[in-house]
Amino acid sequence: MDLIDTHAHLDMAAYNRDRAAVITRAFTERITIITVGIDIDSSRATIALAKKYRHLYATVGIHPHYAAAADGDALVQLEKLTHAKEVVALGEIGLDYYRDLSPRNLQRDLFCKQIKIARKENLPLIIHNRNSDHDLLAILRDIGGPFRGVAHSFSGTIDFARHLFDLGFYIGISGPVTFPKNKALRAVVSESPLERLIVETDAPYLTPVPFRSQRNEPSYVRYVAKEIARVRGESVEEIAKQTTANARTLFNVSQLAEKDDKR
Ligand SMILES: [Zn+2]
Repeated sequence: MDLIDTHAHLDMAAYNRDRAAVITRAFTERITIITVGIDIDSSRATIALAKKYRHLYATVGIHPHYAAAADGDALVQLEKLTHAKEVVALGEIGLDYYRDLSPRNLQRDLFCKQIKIARKENLPLIIHNRNSDHDLLAILRDIGGPFRGVAHSFSGTIDFARHLFDLGFYIGISGPVTFPKNKALRAVVSESPLERLIVETDAPYLTPVPFRSQRNEPSYVRYVAKEIARVRGESVEEIAKQTTANARTLFNVSQLAEKDDKR
């Protein structure tokens, strides 16, 4: 079963002891990985990983948590990093009004500036959004769609999802869909068009059942796909096929194929 884990953080210290084994395990299970940057240093690290491994791709971006520290120079560096051929998206970027680690006005400003870079460089967006639905939609509508992108580890309502679908977005489904109490997310999964869903782990976070208290890793993305299949009453093969096709469309299939041919 081919799957794409569209959101993992494999540069993080959680993998310092066994990073190569984690990556190899995913490849053995036919899982392609997109590893996601959260600041300039981690964006450099994701590119380095993608240069090293087949079926591993990188994204670059500055997470809203670090908005206060992101100056003009950081954005200049970020734009340069987008030119690496391993980079398939700008992210993760967005708003986080739950942890509020940077002032909200700076989060909004950084988000807008990174969307502009993504548009200039023709890259899809990977959006992080927590307790900030209203401002997120306001910014996106102000800039104007259609967009190419994903609202990653989606945790909102079906109404909010539909607004995002209208703007051109996919939603990324991760481990919380397997949590016993998360009926709300399962309802969103069953009411969304399959053509708008992609799967992810957000590893090392958000580990799905049955490994919930342990470290997450890309090979566990199959538990997310299985749960989506169960909830929708469809086969896991069909879920794998369509979510993989969606991810390939979003993150540019020709780029993925080219990379495979070269090695
Ligand atoms: Zn993430």
